Amino acid sequence: MRVSENPVPFETFRALPKTDLHVHLDGSLRVETILDIARADDIELPATDVAGLTAAIGCGAQFGSLVEYLRGFDITLRVMQSEAALERIAFELAEDAHRENVRYMEVRYAPMLHTRRGLKLTRVVEAVLDGLRRARETFGIKANVIVCGIRNISPESSYQMAELAVAYKGGGVVGFDLAGAEADFPAKHHRQAFQLVRDNNINCTIHAGEAYGPESIAQAIHVCGAHRIGHGCRLREHGDLLHYVIDHRIPLECCPSSNVQTGAVKSLASHPLKLYFDLGLRATVNTDNRLITDTTVSKELHLVHREMGVPFADIKAIILAGFKSSFQPFHEKQAMIRRVIAELERYDDDGQLRSVNTPAAQAERPARIRTSTSTSVRPDAE
Ligand SMILES: [Zn+2]
Repeated sequence: MRVSENPVPFETFRALPKTDLHVHLDGSLRVETILDIARADDIELPATDVAGLTAAIGCGAQFGSLVEYLRGFDITLRVMQSEAALERIAFELAEDAHRENVRYMEVRYAPMLHTRRGLKLTRVVEAVLDGLRRARETFGIKANVIVCGIRNISPESSYQMAELAVAYKGGGVVGFDLAGAEADFPAKHHRQAFQLVRDNNINCTIHAGEAYGPESIAQAIHVCGAHRIGHGCRLREHGDLLHYVIDHRIPLECCPSSNVQTGAVKSLASHPLKLYFDLGLRATVNTDNRLITDTTVSKELHLVHREMGVPFADIKAIILAGFKSSFQPFHEKQAMIRRVIAELERYDDDGQLRSVNTPAAQAERPARIRTSTSTSVRPDAE
């Protein structure tokens, strides 16, 4: 068990600037909002109060498998079938992220799951973009969208989602993903969808190495052309592929608590994130599902520090990796990275804010944040 001695307090993690690159819209609603929409739209739920509904969804519970974990989405999706609901849910997700100082997020979801009441796919996409835009105007948080295909639905539906990603490229959609049940539903079956998005120069990320072995990660990268990998817990089983991912700076979107919930890893202490980081892999920390996993980015980073024994100096590098790995255009990303580096350097390696007003502090050059491949921070591509 690797537990940090004298851990940096949770409040420091809340105060740090952060990203959330792997967060599902349909797994990140407020329980109160689900109840509210259900009441207004006359939608049946398994419970009518916060405690009952939290238990029915299994927020924060150990599910033991990805398929069991995914059952909670059946409840959340019931209230996500109108434009007003989608706009509100997207806005509130960005508001919750803003409250813990997330500066940039990429919200993912599969629009085809929101047409049960006859909504057009274009309206599904636009309602979510509207909510994220309103959050940006209100709070300043920047959020883009990743459109998902679902492994266990059909390659045809993934292709339709890919067409949607192409249609909204430049309008707030920055990527394409493949989610859903990983075992028995290989990514290669959806290769036409990935070909279409890549032909249109759109970024791809794929959930892989979560509920299946390293072959799934290899397929995501080599057959589908993934630029990032969701989870990648089982990458450690294949040294050669692991080094390929490191050499090509392919970021992993790690979601530690979710990985314990789905049984992808046994415990936080046995999560491979620290190993990956120490080997130089570009590892990022994300929530996956704020409601179903009952988490925030601050909470995940704090757990990485406290339960996995990752030093605070490395936490700063992991945060920076999140900004570096985003699917934003390079120059927008670079400007954000410069600002974030300046903010992170205000903290020393023990998580203490450096005093900026004393002459001694002014004379002292700020310590550099260690990154995965160098001893100084480079704001450009690393
Ligand atoms: Zn996910």
